[in-house]
Amino acid sequence: MERTIDEIWENVRVHLSEEVPPTSFAAWFSEARPLVIDGDEFILEVPSLFAKGGIERKYRGLLERLLEEVTGHKLDLRVRVGEWAHSQPPEVPEDPRLPRRYIGSQPLNPDYTFDSFVRGKNVYLAHAAAQAVADSPARAYNPLFIYGGVGLGKTHLLHAIGNHVLSKPSGLTLGYTTSERFAIELINSIGSNSQEAFRAKYRNVDLLLIDDVHFLKNKEGTQEELFHTFNELYGNGRQIVLSSDRPPEELRELQERLVSRFRWGLVADVQAPDLETRIAILREKARWRGVEVEDQMLELIATRITTNVRDLEGALIRVVAYVELGEGPLTDDVLAEILPKEETIPRLTVDLVKDEVARRYNVSLDDMEGPSRKREVTQARQIAIYLARELTQSSFPALGRAFGGRDHTTTMHSYQKVQELMRQMPLLRGEIEAIRDELLARYTP
Ligand code: ADP
Ligand code: MG
Repeated sequence: MERTIDEIWENVRVHLSEEVPPTSFAAWFSEARPLVIDGDEFILEVPSLFAKGGIERKYRGLLERLLEEVTGHKLDLRVRVGEWAHSQPPEVPEDPRLPRRYIGSQPLNPDYTFDSFVRGKNVYLAHAAAQAVADSPARAYNPLFIYGGVGLGKTHLLHAIGNHVLSKPSGLTLGYTTSERFAIELINSIGSNSQEAFRAKYRNVDLLLIDDVHFLKNKEGTQEELFHTFNELYGNGRQIVLSSDRPPEELRELQERLVSRFRWGLVADVQAPDLETRIAILREKARWRGVEVEDQMLELIATRITTNVRDLEGALIRVVAYVELGEGPLTDDVLAEILPKEETIPRLTVDLVKDEVARRYNVSLDDMEGPSRKREVTQARQIAIYLARELTQSSFPALGRAFGGRDHTTTMHSYQKVQELMRQMPLLRGEIEAIRDELLARYTP
């Protein structure tokens, strides 16, 4: 009996999923659809030019071999961008908890939970305190002040508190922002005469999480605003959680009255993880990415990379990429080469991100920085801004300058727009994550 094209494709997919690593499989093939077999051509529809290019470049040979195995005929693969790709993304039903219970300058990262947070001695107190605060806000420690170096889990813990609270039917409302965003929103609210709304927004939540308060230095107006926000929340028995790259006593450039309040509750630090914890973190990250890495390998990586968790993740990605590309056995020498000492890996800059995204989406650098509003150009530009922000931690004003003198509100909007699109469109998310992984494999953030 003749099989339908759907059955054939299903069969190919099964084989494909065995030959392609799960993350790549999901990124490239989750939204590909078979259209028709036309003579000896098998036509596959994908949602974007990017997907078409990637599949043709990387998977044509494999797909044609599998098609032949499954059908018994030689078929040529033709990939085209489907009509449906240009229609609007489907309406996502609004998360019922969001409008009522969550306010903030950006969505919480759903992956940053207590479950995915590895507890070593290095974060013991900070984790326990965060969990206590999430379980009984304003009763455990108020405020909770978490500090420590970059890449050690502060943002993860703040989001975990938020995700935990929102997952409970308690009805508590929650706000999350970074001090930088708080400052920008304040300035915008002054410009648009909506300061009252801005105040009401942050002074009426049950929990307020403010990330990276060290960025408040030299921002007198914002410190003033935060001071009053703090007083109002605290006075009304609401929970406040703050993070910073250093302890309160070292925040010398902040107003003393603000800093003294930071110390009213509990101050907890996050430290760099020890070897055992680094191995545990790598194991968790590998599991989460759906890749299998031998314990011995995890140990080798953990021995070489000692700085912070973000660097550990970058190292794991490089090693996994090496293995997935089938470059050969992973010996100690190979490791030494793909995980060179931190200082010899070039640092990722905004320009490098811009170049890579421009290349991937076939957009010129002039267009990246110029005024073009063509859809492909705008989207590539927004993605570059998003990735540059994520990977280089540049401020929105700095990104504005790097992208042809745009306003900080524009770069912030681009960033939020991409965040939103990634939530709605898994394929686009896969594309962007693939670019991110490739950049991380080549540079250190
Ligand atoms: P910080 O805000 O302190 O700079 P992040 O919270 O952004 O650091 O953490 C950097 C990365 O490392 C994130 O991907 C985060 O999920 C991960 N990470 C940090 N600490 C841990 C941990 N203890 N367990 C699991 N992942 C962690
Ligand atoms: Mg952070």
